[in-house]
Amino acid sequence: MNKLKVYNTLTAKKEIFTPINKDIVTMYVCGPTVYGEPHLGHARPAITFDILFRYLIFSGHKVRYVRNITDVGHLLNDADEGEDKIGKKAKSLHLEPMEVAHFYTKKYHESMISLNVKSPSIEPTATGHIIEQINMIQKIIDNGYAYESNGSVYFDVITYNKDYDYGMLSKRKIEDLIGNNRDLDGQSDKKNSVDFALWKKASTEHIMRWDSPWGQGFPGWHIECSTMSCKYLGHKFDIHGGGMDLVFPHHEAEIAQCYAANQTQSATYWMHNNMITIAGQKMGKSLGNFITLSEFFSGSHKKLDKPYSPMVIRFFLLQAHYRSTIDFSNNALQASEKGLIKMFNAFHTIDKLPSSLDSDIDVSILSDKCYNALNDDFNTPIVLAHLFEAVKFINSAYEGRLHITEKDTGLLKILFTDFLIHIFGLKELNISNESNDSELNNMLQLLIDTRQHAKENQNWDISDMIRTQLEELGFIIKDTKDGATWERKK
Ligand code: ZN
Repeated sequence: MNKLKVYNTLTAKKEIFTPINKDIVTMYVCGPTVYGEPHLGHARPAITFDILFRYLIFSGHKVRYVRNITDVGHLLNDADEGEDKIGKKAKSLHLEPMEVAHFYTKKYHESMISLNVKSPSIEPTATGHIIEQINMIQKIIDNGYAYESNGSVYFDVITYNKDYDYGMLSKRKIEDLIGNNRDLDGQSDKKNSVDFALWKKASTEHIMRWDSPWGQGFPGWHIECSTMSCKYLGHKFDIHGGGMDLVFPHHEAEIAQCYAANQTQSATYWMHNNMITIAGQKMGKSLGNFITLSEFFSGSHKKLDKPYSPMVIRFFLLQAHYRSTIDFSNNALQASEKGLIKMFNAFHTIDKLPSSLDSDIDVSILSDKCYNALNDDFNTPIVLAHLFEAVKFINSAYEGRLHITEKDTGLLKILFTDFLIHIFGLKELNISNESNDSELNNMLQLLIDTRQHAKENQNWDISDMIRTQLEELGFIIKDTKDGATWERKK
């Protein structure tokens, strides 16, 4: 079996994964800014790094996984000026900002549980680490890479870039950054337009504010992640993850802050998942295709044909490589739903396979192929392609057209259990749940309508026959004043 390789955005190469400390793998992933309903954009990084977390644990590593909650400092348009996302929402709803943060943190957790995303080892909040952020900012000032200006503190990108490389992660050139920004920033307190805020002075109407050596204000967005990763994982740790949209400026700024404070590269491997589109379009409120996770689960958005189980969304995301874009559509999700059902049906069929004296399949080769694909920078679609090959084999062996020994059947069972359950974190669809099975629902509705028609024509034989036979199949028809409904027999 090949060793685990991961694509490192910093070196732009796939590299063999070697943890700094063999006893514990340390990883940090940027969590949500909790000011709105969790949506697909939250599901992808959560699931991508959940697979990584699960696989490291499965491979015998002890892992400390930190995923933060941004509850202050993230301004509109990810900018250095303007309103705080949470503060704005709090004002519009006449709530305390912490009520907004608490409400959406809870929503986020509920969605993560539905998606079977494991809880990280530590989930620190930005507001819980204001003192640590102030200390790190002070350290950066003391080291000469930041300056105070009119109650705010800015990172001095030009001075930093003389000693280090601002752009090492995003591969941007400082000259281009200065060129792009020059005209945008007329009356700023910054020395240079590329400088970014570590601490912002709070204007009179700004609700979220803390005392600091520079007056009342609030921390910049980037400093929280540097502070919390350093606090819980040390100055040097193994993996830093997040969406590709965070590479610049968020992660570039994080790297700079850590060098400026600690003179060292913080994370060894920088891993980024790609973005999602919906029916070929970028997801956005203005395009009317902004679908929240709870709308996916309930099917309540007008662009959705039906509800989709969280497991279908999870399975669908695994069918693309995490560094590729992925397009959500009703057709694609319905195909995924079928695939997931097929996969679990075959998983159960393994127990029923007749045993032969020889095998037409080499399970150890198949197993190696699956692990090699996963070890090749988490190529989950290739793993699934191999498992679907196995599904074909299982179905043929069940029908007696191919053969398998008892030993190979046992190995196949282990392979499916390890990948489906432990590494991919999938669960079987609960098809008794009516909302997950629109075909069954449509079929039963047809029978209910036929029975109603028979009753109206006083054709009691037919109406009774439909009721009795459905009952034998495990479905009970209930007549209510709004018409008949069905439920499963308990
Ligand atoms: Zn972050």
